[in-house]
Amino acid sequence: MIADSNTTTEKIQDLANSHGFDMVGFTSADPFENSKDFIVQRVDEGLLSGLSWFTKERVERGSNPKNILKDAKSIISLGLSYYTIKPKHNTDTINGKIAMYAWGDDYHRIFERKIKDFIADLKQLTSEETNTYWYTDTGPMSDRAVAQRAGVGWFGKNTNILTDKGSWVVLAQIITNLDLEESPVSKKHCGTCTMCIDVCPTNAIIGAGILDNNKCISYLTIENKGPIPMELRSKMGNWIFGCDICQDVCPVNRKQALGNAYNDFSQKDSERVSPDLISLLKISEDSFRKRFAKSPVLRAKVDGMKRNVCVALGNIKNPSTVEPLSEALIKDSALVRGHAAWALGQIKTDSAIQSLASRKKLEKDPWVLKEIELALNS
Ligand code: SF4
Ligand code: SF4
Repeated sequence: MIADSNTTTEKIQDLANSHGFDMVGFTSADPFENSKDFIVQRVDEGLLSGLSWFTKERVERGSNPKNILKDAKSIISLGLSYYTIKPKHNTDTINGKIAMYAWGDDYHRIFERKIKDFIADLKQLTSEETNTYWYTDTGPMSDRAVAQRAGVGWFGKNTNILTDKGSWVVLAQIITNLDLEESPVSKKHCGTCTMCIDVCPTNAIIGAGILDNNKCISYLTIENKGPIPMELRSKMGNWIFGCDICQDVCPVNRKQALGNAYNDFSQKDSERVSPDLISLLKISEDSFRKRFAKSPVLRAKVDGMKRNVCVALGNIKNPSTVEPLSEALIKDSALVRGHAAWALGQIKTDSAIQSLASRKKLEKDPWVLKEIELALNS
């Protein structure tokens, strides 16, 4: 279906703005050959090996919009800024850190609501025959590659899309059979800046725009369901869900304004931003679900979160945490017990060593036993 491209594109831009999207851009539905080759190379190099579902076949499929919508002609790229103000937290407790995008409601829910309303109005504006298929980080398409080609922003060396409104941005795209005018691609780039590369604690950014996902704290604390590699644990600080370090230092984020969906992303409850680690270590599965209802944090699952908490406590090294860690070493799942052992080995007070030695006599799981032995010998 061919629409009167110029005016239709402008009207759609206005419509998207009126629906509260902070960024809007348009690109053709031509295949994304460059980004396909780039991502396939990263898969071949094993930089995404922790994500078993991230296969070359998936990349191939997602690189051609016509594989997803047969009569695709254009893609509308949409962005929402999730930048928000951090609530004050209780300084009497030992706290962890959660990445900013996860402070409020899950952005998939926020986008879903907005995109469905937008598409209903888009059909009214164009035709009921307008076909659409949309993703927000939920399918095989690279939302960042789409955003870059649609002029929403440019690729930073930290692999994020940097926009004129900062990099605290979540993205979505609508593939459509409308024939729309393409937005100009941004000519901006990072120049000689290397701040994100220099500051990354795990050296996960191995080159300009190249991320070793297996070393990134975001992957380690969220998608990774197994043990965290021992050599990376001491570099993770008190991040327990995601990591914002390479965005915090980025100069494009120095002047930051609140986005249109601020109310959805903002958070008044400091326990969803800088949680008390001890209460999180003791939390039941049911309470975890209730406490993080509608939050992306649920993705870590309760055992993954407790594992992350143990690593944070091992880095904080506060002797007052020996007791709850010793309890976790007895009561929790093998994944949590192993990381509790590591944390106790880092704290290494007499009572921490005593807990490890007592548990060593009873522990049946070979991996946990090895963690206990390493902790005792560290
Ligand atoms: Fe490094 Fe954190 Fe950025 Fe990952 S999110 S690349 S660990 S600074
Ligand atoms: Fe680019 Fe510097 Fe931002 Fe890294 S910190 S993404 S190099 S501008």
